[in-house]
This record gives sequence, structure tokens and C-alpha cells, in this order.
Amino acid sequence: MVDMGTFIRRLTRAFRPGDPQFAAAMARRWAELPASARTPGQVLGRHAVGCEGTHGVFPKCDLACTPCYHSRDANRVRVDGAHTVAQVGAQMGLFRARRGPRAHAQLIGGEVSLLAPDDHAAALLAMRRHGPEPMSFSHGDFGYDYLEKLVLGADGRVRLPRVSFAAHFDMFMFGRRGIPRPADEASLNPYRERFAAMFARLRREHRVRYFLAHNMTVTPGNLGQVAAVVRDCRAMGYGMFSFQPAAFVGDDRRWREDYRDVTSDQVWAQIELGAGTTLDYHVFEHGDVRCNRVVYGFWAGDRWFPFLDGTDPRDLAARDAFFRYLGPVSFTGTPAVSLAVTLMLIAARRPQVIALAARWLVRVIRRVRLGRLLRHRVRPVSYVMHQFMDAADVAPAWKLMRRGEASGDPRVRATQERLAACSYAMAHPEDGTLVPACVQHAVLDPAENRELRRLLPIAEIRNTAARDA
Ligand code: SF4
Repeated sequence: MVDMGTFIRRLTRAFRPGDPQFAAAMARRWAELPASARTPGQVLGRHAVGCEGTHGVFPKCDLACTPCYHSRDANRVRVDGAHTVAQVGAQMGLFRARRGPRAHAQLIGGEVSLLAPDDHAAALLAMRRHGPEPMSFSHGDFGYDYLEKLVLGADGRVRLPRVSFAAHFDMFMFGRRGIPRPADEASLNPYRERFAAMFARLRREHRVRYFLAHNMTVTPGNLGQVAAVVRDCRAMGYGMFSFQPAAFVGDDRRWREDYRDVTSDQVWAQIELGAGTTLDYHVFEHGDVRCNRVVYGFWAGDRWFPFLDGTDPRDLAARDAFFRYLGPVSFTGTPAVSLAVTLMLIAARRPQVIALAARWLVRVIRRVRLGRLLRHRVRPVSYVMHQFMDAADVAPAWKLMRRGEASGDPRVRATQERLAACSYAMAHPEDGTLVPACVQHAVLDPAENRELRRLLPIAEIRNTAARDA
């Protein structure tokens, strides 16, 4: 039986607006940002510390993509569950120490579904133990059977009540079952739909909650099809679409010469065309906008609306109030009841939050119109563009940064600014460093995979059981 003092302390801890470790990590993050990234809409340091990703935990993949961001030795490393779980635990431990317990972490490397379902589940549980909300990155070419084995334990009970997946679909991925060489993006739509439908079934049959993101590489070959993907896939069940203009990084045998013919502005214009409206990526910024463009909003029927309108000063004031009052609150992965109590406690302390929220809601309803809201289901969908950098730019910039030197060359200097504001880090427990994913892929992956190849030599017989399930 706990005494009243202990009970109140526990209650206060359970519903406090933010974890002190997380708040301290955010303050450090803000202090480390270069001046170019300290913008009014900057999310890092105000509501997030950035995304985390794993590396070297299962480098192998069984599709062939152009480009492929993994080094040429990646496919010569054996998938080994024990290695994966141990490495994931160590990398997440470092993130926890440096970035606190609240982050989105990507279980990423080669193809996650080549892991046995038990190993995959153990890796996700190891990530959750350290605090972050994990997301599995996959090519999406696996069956419902695999998914069911992932979320259910040996006793048939649900071991993962919530899962998040990012599925990568684009016409430059070769070897997908049923469509080994897609003719165009549209021909992949049934596969995109089927992937999302597996999760709806999972929720129906096992009450497992889920979040789905859709990733797509953009090159001159499919740039003109981006708008159609945005339009055609908006109601499939994905909560986020991320488009990545191709970069010269990873396995140079899979590079094509024309990637630089696609600019960020062209890709963004396509996303806007698909969404049927302009998309203001300055309302919220994650790191440097040369790396990331993000918009949050929702579809109501055939129109997409932003949660906040960047041309309305009242919405920008609401954003600033969100950072001020709700910045440390973790919305993802927090059980609905604790989140509701936390928000009520904040509102009780700061009643102005209620008035701000109410006025914002009225503006949204006016913009969308009540009739449209009543006629259509509201589907929150965010759009992201993530522009990785070329290895040839990252290597010299990183070399100087390691020595604490700023480059005089404007191009290298720009790369350094982007790396300093990076929102996507990878952890190295062996030396206690966090590095941008660009540095991981451009500089560190080749040697790391050569070492892994020695540590985990490939088995003679290819394990395709997971995909065939
Ligand atoms: S990984 Fe590279 S492109 Fe992505 S945010 Fe970091 S520095 Fe920018």
C-alpha cells in the first residue's frame, strides 16, 4: 500500500506535460542549431529532438532499387536476429542518454521483413524500452501471415498493441512479387492498397492500432507521376507520404546520371499539384528546409487542408502558443487517457489554451466549410520531402566538421549547415557519437558493412520464408 505522498508524486509524474530529460535534450538541441535553422517554425528544440534511425543491424535486402542507399557490401551480410536485437538495444541506449526518451525511431537498414517475426518484434520492444516510438521500414513485399506473427506472441496473444510501418513503393524497385518490373507508378497502386489493407485487417482481427507512412524515391523518370500518386493514394490508409529526390549516395553501381535534373522545387510543385493547393512548408520546419519540407493537414473529400494556414497571423500565433504550452507533450504513442489528462491539467493551469484552441477550430471549420466536413470523412495526411545529400558533398563537409572547421567554400558550407541542423541521426555506441544519416550512408557505411561481412558471413541458402509467408 503506497502512502498518499508517493501516490501524488506518481500521479504528477504520470501526467506531467513533459519528461525533464526530454526538456533538457530539447534545450540542448536548440542551442546546437545553426542560426540558419532557428526559424519561427523550427520544431527541433521546441517540440522534438529529431528522428532516430538504426544502422548496421540488418543490412541485407531482397529487392533491387536504383538508387540504393546501402553500400555494395550490404547484401553480403547475413541477417542475424541476435545481432539485430543487441545492436538496436545499444544504439537506442545511446539515443536515450543523449536525446531523452521521446523520439520517433526508425528500425531501418536493409529489409526489415527478412528478420524472423520474433526477432523483428524483439527489436521493436527493445526500442520501446528506451522510450522512442519505433517504425519499421520495409519494401512492403510481405504477407499478412508475417504481420500476424509479428504482433502475436507464441501464446497467440497480442505482444505489439500498436505498430508503425513505412513502406517504400516506387517503379525503380525491382523484384517485387507479382510486379518485378513496374511499368509506372500507377501499376503499383494495387500493391500500395493491398499493403495498407493488411493493417486494417490486423486492426479488425486483433485490435492492433497502426500508423502507416509511404516512401517514394523521385527521379526524372517518375517526377511527372508524383501528383497522381498523391491524388490516387490519399485514402488508402497512409498517414504520411514522404518523397525523396534521388541522391548520389550508397551503391554507385545503382546510380543513374540524371538525378540532378530533379530539383526540390519541382518535386514540391508535383505534391502541390496532387493536393490541389499550395503547401507552405515554413509553418513547421524540421531542421533545414533544404533537407526537409513538411506540411500537416487533412483531406476532406477531394481537397487537402492544412491544420494551420501560414498566411493567417492568428494561425501562426496558435503555432507559437502550441510550442510554448504543449511543446514538451508527447502526442505519439502516449495512451489516450494519459494524454487527455495531461492536456486537461495544462488547460487548467493555462486557461488561455482553451480559448486559443477553440478559436483555431472555428477558423478551420470556416475554411473547410461545415457542409464539407459533414459530408466527408476527415483523413489526416501529412506530406514530406526529404532530400538526402550526395556523398561527394557530405564527405568533405564532414571531414572539416570533425576538425571543428567551417568551410570557406559556399557549397561545402551549405552542406555543413544542413548537417549541423540534421533531423535524422544514427547512433554509434562504440564511440558515443550521433551522426547524420547522410554521413552514415556517405562516409561510414562502406567500412561498417565490410566489417559486418566478416562478422556475419552470408549463409549459403537464401532465407525467403518471411516473404513467402
Ligand atoms: S540525413 Fe542528411 S538530408 Fe537528412 S536531415 Fe540529416 S543532413 Fe539533412
